[in-house]
Parts: sequence; structure tokens; C-alpha cells
Amino acid sequence: TDGNTVAEIAKKIHREPAEIVKKLFLMGVVATQNQSLDKDTIELLATDYGIETEEKVQVDLTDFDTFFNQEVVEENLVTRPATVTIMGHVDHGKTTLLDTLRHTNVTEGEAGGITQHIGAYQVEEKGKLITFLDTPGHAAFTTMRARGADITDIAIIVVAADDGVMPQTIEAINHAKAAEVPIIVAVNKVDKPGANPDRVMQELTEYELIPEDWGGDTIFVQISALFNKNLDELLDMILLVAEIEELKADPKRPALGSVIEARLDRAKGPIATLLVQEGTLSQGDPIVVGNAFGRVRTMTNDKGRRVKQATPSTPVEITGLNIAPQAGDRFVVFEDEKTARQVGESRATAANEAKRSTTNKVTLENLFESL
Ligand code: GDP
Ligand code: MG
Repeated sequence: TDGNTVAEIAKKIHREPAEIVKKLFLMGVVATQNQSLDKDTIELLATDYGIETEEKVQVDLTDFDTFFNQEVVEENLVTRPATVTIMGHVDHGKTTLLDTLRHTNVTEGEAGGITQHIGAYQVEEKGKLITFLDTPGHAAFTTMRARGADITDIAIIVVAADDGVMPQTIEAINHAKAAEVPIIVAVNKVDKPGANPDRVMQELTEYELIPEDWGGDTIFVQISALFNKNLDELLDMILLVAEIEELKADPKRPALGSVIEARLDRAKGPIATLLVQEGTLSQGDPIVVGNAFGRVRTMTNDKGRRVKQATPSTPVEITGLNIAPQAGDRFVVFEDEKTARQVGESRATAANEAKRSTTNKVTLENLFESL
């Protein structure tokens, strides 16, 4: 049964079924103990007993999981650009790779535009866009993930061909595996006299990264980030993996996404670089970003140009928030500014309370520390 028979309801509210039957009779409803009652009758009965029925299940707007886990509308889905993070051991060429890509593959029509650092940028290859997170380093990657931002679709692990697999290479592989993102290995510095790409491939077999030529399924690209060698090949491989991954998003939904970086600017106030993950972010949108709220006052793209809209996988720098959020925070757009304010304020309050309760907690350990 659906749990709505007179007997079942009686049990739930700790009454005798006969009493319910009688009460119903007095209300003009003739029912037997095994009869199911409709919603209206249950409501009447509940009111009579002074019980609140749990009909009105409130959606908790402060819980962003609700928005992020929303069911997809299949027919609205469109292909979106991949978001790529570059990781690897120190000095193996992450920054050089990001710089070369950025300066040689500016989007069509954007050539000559001043590239400005907003924490992410897009390049164009074969008419398709790829979004690079401009913050190499494992700390950024793990911090973002720890805060709930799961934005990397593909990880590029850079390994210098003259140095081979090093501790942070292994760390990077582990991070990518934990995040369950596909890995492309960029064997860098192949221009150097001491370069030995084969050794890198050999070493990486230990970490289950086996080239296709050797019977595995990991893509290896030999590059020189400094001399811009084979970077087109790397971009093509990214597009290939992106296609296999079938990355899609719904540009029609209310926008949501994650914070790539944020700061407080003396003149402009709080500034945040957002990566749109679903929906289309528009200038003027009421928004909650982490525990901050406001309205999107201005939006600037990675070329320093003002834009009015940002579709999925597009990074934009926005102003208009009351406070600066943190990298890895998530954002959600709301219908109206009042709701955004309420949600933002209650999230800020909740965060402050959580902070206070943890700092006030005296454990044996920090008690000893303070002695
Ligand atoms: P990161 O620590 O991984 O960001 O490494 P960097 O990009 O700062 O590079 C470390 C050093 O390696 C710099 O001196 C770069 O110029 C150099 N480097 C990077 N890529 C290449 C390359 O492809 N070939 C050569 N010869 N040097 C490179
Ligand atoms: Mg660097």
C-alpha cells in the first residue's frame, strides 16, 4: 500500500484506527480501516489533530549541490570546450607551455587583443575552443577540488625529456587519477641535447601510462614548449580526447560554475574569475558566489574585452560582488536580487558559525599546544 490507509495513518500518529474512523465519520467521511485516504482528507485529519503535514518540502537554496546535481534536459545539451589543467614537476616547462600556447593561438579575430591574466584563457584550434586553466600547480588543483570545484576535463602532465619522471610528476599523475580525468603526457624539451623521450615513456609505464605504440591507451606528444614545436599536435590530441569524452552542457539553464581566482581590487572592488559550467552567464544576473552575492556588473573575457554573455566553459572576470570569494567556490545565478542576497547572507552566516564552532572547540591537542 502507499501507507495512506486509515490503519497505517493511525499507527503513524499513535492512535487507535477506530478513533480515526469515528473522527472521519464526524467529518462526513465514511471509511473502513483498510481504506486509503486521499491527500485532502489526510490534510483535514492532520489539521484536526494539529499535526503539520510534510507536504511543503522546502528546497534549500543555500545548498548548491541541488543546482549542480539538477537533472539534465537532454535536448538542450550542446558540445562545450574542454577545460584543461597543466601539471608536472617544477621546471619541466608548465609556465612556458601555457605562455607559448596563449601567445600563438589567440582566438580568430582576437589577434592583437591585449592578453590579460585572469586565471584562465581560451585558444582556438581548427575552429574549436580549448580552455586552459592558467594556474599550474598541484596545490591549485587540489584546493579547487577540495572546495567542490570539479572543473578539469583533461590533465596534461608535462615531463621534461632531459630529466624524466620526478616526484611531482608522480604526484600529478595521482591527482589526475583521483579526479578521474583523462591524462595526456607532454614530453617536453625534446630540443635539448640530453633529451631522451623514450626513457620518459619507459618510466611512465610503471604508472600505467602506456603509449598506444606499446599497446597502451595513453596519448604521448613530444613537444618543445620553448620553441613552439609540435604544440598543434598537442592541441589536436586535446580536441580528440575532448571528443571522446563527449563534453556537453546546457546553455539555456540558469548559469552556474566555479571560481578560478578572486581578489579585492582597490578601485573596482571584489573581482572574481568565473568558469561557467552550465547555462549562460549574463551581465546583470543576480548571483551568489561562495558566500558572496551581488549582480554581475561587468564581465571581461581573457582578452580584456567587455562581454555581455558567457557560455559553458568560458572564463570571465566579473565585478559586482559584495565581498571577494575564494578560488574553488561555486556560483549560482538566481531569479532576482532579493533571493541572491538572502541566499548569500545565509551562506555567509552559516560559514561564520561553522568557523566559530571549530575554532572554539578545545581538543586535547590544541590545549597542549597553547600551554
Ligand atoms: P615550470 O616550473 O614547470 O613552470 O617550468 P618553466 O616553464 O618555468 O620552465 C623552466 C625552464 O625550462 C625555463 O628556463 C624554460 O625556459 C625552460 N624550458 C621550458 N620548456 C622548454 C623547452 O621546450 N626547451 C628548452 N630547451 N627549455 C625549456
Ligand atoms: Mg611555472
